[in-house]
Amino acid sequence: MAILEEPIKGILEVKNYIDGEWVESAGKIQDVVNPVNGEVIARVPISTKEEIDSAVEAAKAAFPDWRRTPPVARARCLFRLKELLEANFEELSRVQTQEHGKTIDESRGETRRGIENVEVACGIPTLMQGYNSEDIASGIDEYLIPTPLGVFGIIGPFNFPFMIPLWSAPYAVATGNCVVIKPSSEVPLSQMKIAELVDEAGFPPGVWNVVNGGRTVVNGMLDHPDIEGITFVGSTPTAKNVIYPRCGATGKRVIAQGGASNFMVIMPDCSLRATILALMTSFFGNAGQRCLAGQNAIIVGDDDHFYNEFISGVVDTAKKIVIGNGLDEEVQMGPVRDTEKKKKILSYISSGIEEGAKIILDGRSDFRIKGNYPDTCFLGSTIMENVKPEMKIVTEEIFGPTMGIIRVKTLDEAIRICNDSPFQNGNAIFTSNGRTAREFKYRVKSGNVGINIGIVAPMAFFPFSGTGDSFFGILHTQGKEAIRFFTESKVVIERWL
Ligand code: NAD
Repeated sequence: MAILEEPIKGILEVKNYIDGEWVESAGKIQDVVNPVNGEVIARVPISTKEEIDSAVEAAKAAFPDWRRTPPVARARCLFRLKELLEANFEELSRVQTQEHGKTIDESRGETRRGIENVEVACGIPTLMQGYNSEDIASGIDEYLIPTPLGVFGIIGPFNFPFMIPLWSAPYAVATGNCVVIKPSSEVPLSQMKIAELVDEAGFPPGVWNVVNGGRTVVNGMLDHPDIEGITFVGSTPTAKNVIYPRCGATGKRVIAQGGASNFMVIMPDCSLRATILALMTSFFGNAGQRCLAGQNAIIVGDDDHFYNEFISGVVDTAKKIVIGNGLDEEVQMGPVRDTEKKKKILSYISSGIEEGAKIILDGRSDFRIKGNYPDTCFLGSTIMENVKPEMKIVTEEIFGPTMGIIRVKTLDEAIRICNDSPFQNGNAIFTSNGRTAREFKYRVKSGNVGINIGIVAPMAFFPFSGTGDSFFGILHTQGKEAIRFFTESKVVIERWL
């Protein structure tokens, strides 16, 4: 099968999108490298403090008119954006594959999930309605009006360059706020493409801004007195030690989503074939670089026959995963994003071995790349047995295509392991017993829970939950919680004499 055409040809010079204009940055320039072949596909600026300040200023200036634009009219801009995103669906998906490395099908899924947030935000005229009580006392009425606040900063991670800023931005602008988005500097192209379509959709200048860069831009947002709130998605150290405390110190509202180390609990009564297939995408999809990826499978019970069948099933299926260029439609796993990330994953595999885990599928060497590509960022699937809950490959986030196997006797033990983890993003159980599933769902602490589902990714009209060290804040991105986050509840008590 032919490899799909690359949408980015040559080297793209990325600019900032501020006040409806494409602006060159005075900051240092960094290469954006396609991990499949090491080719430089773009150059991205690491913007300066002055540049983030000018974007916030533009957003602040756009706010009064945008806030007065009726929600139905704001929704029309979002409807136009949705149509443009659909019209460019395939190109947007291929850009993700080129800048990130994931397979084209994974990118198409990401594009769909991103657009769904725009669709949900199109319902803003009803989503933003308040509520009222007549006669709270004689002749006095009381009502609540959700009102926008002003300017919000949106900070994205590298693993979903297209979708994740869309967990926030459509809701922020639909409610009448203005945004400044800072994509991960490793993968800035998807947000640049979205901004081109935002421009075409006719949003007023200053409502939607994109400033590329790194810590200077993030710090500029965190310290800026005119930024009302921040949504952040990234690793736990950044969420916990940088974003959350700094927002607290400067009085900003915050959603800070962090990392994960998720468990897939396997009961011996599960449907084995379907479970194994679900685990393949959970552990190895997106090359394991998903905050909802399974990191360890917990096999419950002392049925050796089931255990052996499970192990041979996962190893045989994982071995067959086709690895290569994500733009080849036959490929099922692309490279990891860069050499540093690969190094980190390799060091976790070594630490697992040092701590007593046994490799039964070695993704460090036991894999073949389809096509002629350097193995710089590629890894195969690694499966390790004899994993214990206290090992680093359980307590820390690996973020790569690895599966640890933990064996326990009872469901109680499995739930305890899930709940002892500092991370609580998305744990799942595989079983055919409703009582067991209910017990798991009831007791497990993670914010997203799967029952016979390997990637517990909430739809746009549900919050993207998470708790423990996977989330800092109260309200979550997506759906009604995002509407609540991006608005203040103004309460009016009214009497006419
Ligand atoms: P990261 O924390 O390194 O970076 C995230 C963003 O913060 C980037 O835009 C980066 O430029 C900025 N940043 C990084 N360090 C900073 C610092 N010290 N000061 C200021 N800004 C800083 O995360 P990443 O490697 O890009 O993304 C992967 C992580 O994101 C994983 O841990 C993954 O689990 C997590 N993630 C979580 C969710 C979720 O919903 N909980 C979703 C996707 C990814």
